Amino acid sequence: MSYIGRFAPSPTGPLHSGSLIAAVASYLQAKSLQGKWLLRIEDLDPPRELKGAADDIIRTLDHFGFEWDDQICYQSKRRERYEAILEQLQQQDHSYPCICSRTDIQAAGSMTAFGIRYPGTCRQGIPRTKTPHSIRIRVTDKTISFADKIQGQYQQNLEHDVGDFIIKRADGQTAYQLAVVIDDAAQGITEIVRGSDLLDSTPRQIYLQQLLGYPTPDYAHIPVIVNRHGEKLSKQTGASAIDTESAGATLVHALCYLNHQVPQSLQLAPVSEIWQWAIEHWQLQQVAQRRVIEA
Ligand SMILES: [Zn+2]
Repeated sequence: MSYIGRFAPSPTGPLHSGSLIAAVASYLQAKSLQGKWLLRIEDLDPPRELKGAADDIIRTLDHFGFEWDDQICYQSKRRERYEAILEQLQQQDHSYPCICSRTDIQAAGSMTAFGIRYPGTCRQGIPRTKTPHSIRIRVTDKTISFADKIQGQYQQNLEHDVGDFIIKRADGQTAYQLAVVIDDAAQGITEIVRGSDLLDSTPRQIYLQQLLGYPTPDYAHIPVIVNRHGEKLSKQTGASAIDTESAGATLVHALCYLNHQVPQSLQLAPVSEIWQWAIEHWQLQQVAQRRVIEA
């Protein structure tokens, strides 16, 4: 089977250095294995999105010399497919409507290492008169484990650690966990290289893959860049957009975070030459086996 990787940014703002590093790692992993690298815009959260950000991210990637295969996938255009799968899960009794508010869950749920565990309040049904807020998937008391290529063995028991989780949000949008699983399967993704902030979500995604009969791809979660307060770099934590003026220097810097030292002689070379070197020398095992790296 040939390799298919992807990069899937959310258009909440311009590309920042943290997402550039994830893009670089996933791109090099795909290209060094003569695979395909697909681009997906995860635009399912209109309140958090910034107008024009998707085009801005695409322009930036293009400017850095990324070459994606096939057409760009926009999650906002995939709603019919998501609805069909939501319907299927409901019919198979894998999901149920939930009327709990955030306050209800905070009051009744227990705290785990992964946040507040949903206590299962609506599992046995809701009063007919109530309008559902969201749709949840039933989880089982089974440990889901996988071998991450960077972070090593990782496991969660969804019943104990997370509880039944949301697959359709109260605002009618398909939840990230479900949309990402449907799209990875539809695009035939064989390996996912992304930031370690999504490591905790992976067992939920594997669980959905199993329910839907999809193959489980390989996973490699790279360390995320945090500021000195330990916060992931993002628009919310005040990360600035990356410097596109000196794309080569920015790329050399990104490679450095991934433990790939570009030779001195190439540091001022055009981006195409830096890419050529990087594709030839890329070794996923060289990436630090850590969850975070301080900027
Ligand atoms: Zn509920």
